Amino acid sequence: MDKKFRRHESKNLVQEELDRIAYEYSIDVLGTGIIKVYLTASIYANYEVIIDFSNYPSKPKIQYDNSLEVILGTPKASLYTLKKWNENRPEHVIEIIREIEGLIMSSSVLDKIGEQLSYSYNITALGPKKLRIIIDYEGIKNFEFDIYYDKLPPTVKLAPETAKFIKISQINTLKNWKPESSVIAVVDEIAQKLEHRLRIFYEMKEIQPYIAGLVQSGAKIIFNVNIKIETGEKFEFEFILPENYPKKAPEISLISKLKSESLTNKISEFISYQLDYWDKNKKIISIIEEFKDLLLKNSEKVCALCHKFKCPTCNRPITLDLEGVSGTSECKIICPYCHTKFHQHCWNEVYQLTHQCPICLKNIKRI
Ligand SMILES: [Zn+2]
Ligand SMILES: [Zn+2]
Ligand SMILES: [Zn+2]
Repeated sequence: MDKKFRRHESKNLVQEELDRIAYEYSIDVLGTGIIKVYLTASIYANYEVIIDFSNYPSKPKIQYDNSLEVILGTPKASLYTLKKWNENRPEHVIEIIREIEGLIMSSSVLDKIGEQLSYSYNITALGPKKLRIIIDYEGIKNFEFDIYYDKLPPTVKLAPETAKFIKISQINTLKNWKPESSVIAVVDEIAQKLEHRLRIFYEMKEIQPYIAGLVQSGAKIIFNVNIKIETGEKFEFEFILPENYPKKAPEISLISKLKSESLTNKISEFISYQLDYWDKNKKIISIIEEFKDLLLKNSEKVCALCHKFKCPTCNRPITLDLEGVSGTSECKIICPYCHTKFHQHCWNEVYQLTHQCPICLKNIKRI
């Protein structure tokens, strides 16, 4: 065989190996006989392997990505097909990939701790006694951390995104580790603290336009919420988020002094209802929306018939005392007996039927 022929033959062999692999696996071709293979263990665990078989049937060169090397060790140490490689009777390159895949699968079998954690968390086995916990914050983003418990106390590694919200030095179960301590308790504590902080971070973003005077006092977060409703009336509340929020409800109190006792009572009823029936999935933004509703419905500046500020017929407001709005654009009627306010259009509809004020029931001539 002359040299030229050999090179030609080898080129065909490389192409044949490539075809076999491309038929079964997801790959990128990086060069002649050099490929990147994508292997998937779960939706959270994807690995990349670079294989250089450009000199096939000589022994291929393999490179794992970092996370795969953490699980399996180096290619040289982990792959039997490489160790027993014989270039006179070479295996197909695809056999190497199958072996890697098999190793990934067997290392992703969960032990008892992993199995127990898998009931409450999204987890991936990174290897024996090595787990990755994935906290999905409301579909917005994933926050991950790894826990290795092949040696105790366990080692925790936070992904960079996760480390923005929590520090390992803050994990008490880890700091105060005892022989009888549990790995699960460590995971639970990290997950709870992380969820608490993520929740506050994202909620604060949502309610930013309403907030004034944010204070962090120990583990509590205190801030004021300013609510301005359509009628121009303003209300101020204080919110205190406890250390174990959202497991525990926020404390809410009305700061503004109101003239109306009935509205003050309605507000405190609403607040106690929030506490008594607290649902940890409820967001502060929805409490604010509900407050707005309650305040508007009970405002003295809304129509006693339609309970709206702007008239449903002509869309003009009852503008009594509203800053910056001229009285000529009002749609307003006031009952001369009980002084209740109505939109002119709402009033007319009732008047035609009964000729009575619907609140005090006095007979009224056309106003
Ligand atoms: Zn009305
Ligand atoms: Zn009107
Ligand atoms: Zn009346």
